Amino acid sequence: MRTNRPAQAPPEGTTSGEDMPILNPHSLEFFSRSPEQTRRLGIRLGSLLRPGDLLCLSGDLGAGKTTLVQGLAQGWGSLDSVSSPTFVLCNEYRRPDGKVLYHLDAYRLADALEAEDLDLDAMLETGPLAVEWAERIKTALPLQRLWLKLRYISEEQRGMVFEPEGSRYEQIVSKFRHQSFGG
Ligand code: ADP
Ligand code: MG
Repeated sequence: MRTNRPAQAPPEGTTSGEDMPILNPHSLEFFSRSPEQTRRLGIRLGSLLRPGDLLCLSGDLGAGKTTLVQGLAQGWGSLDSVSSPTFVLCNEYRRPDGKVLYHLDAYRLADALEAEDLDLDAMLETGPLAVEWAERIKTALPLQRLWLKLRYISEEQRGMVFEPEGSRYEQIVSKFRHQSFGG
């Protein structure tokens, strides 16, 4: 885990270090200072989702992917509790109207070919899908998607970059930005 990050978070919208990618103009960079804050941000994002939406989560172990998904499921409207998909590859969080948010952990998938067997398209026809370790199965994923790139900064601080690929996801990020940060 990285610990050599500055304690002082840079202002929103700026890059924070040598290894950050150049942000595309629709991307959003911000910081979470607690697991609760990460869950709250997840709730906001989860409330904007609809079936067909693909969220790709990347970041090392402990970066906060599952914590963010806990918020997503709650914002989506499900009362089911969220855990890492350990015994099954894919969890389902159902809301009272029957609609489901899918949660896939690609960590234990051998490769993108194995991911193709899961029939992600069928899942996306009925619900939104959040994929942890999505970078591992990148070639099996639809090209239109929202990357949620998380990284460890310090004990309670995490850096996040939301990077939309496709106009639907630019729209989601734009709404999320307004609701969370104003402006
Ligand atoms: P991942 O799924 O990426 O492996 P988890 O969400 O399972 O990560 O674990 C993140 C861990 O880091 C949890 O124990 C959580 O309580 C802790 N944590 C500390 N600060 C934060 C934060 N700001 N956001 C998310 N998790 C945090
Ligand atoms: Mg996890």
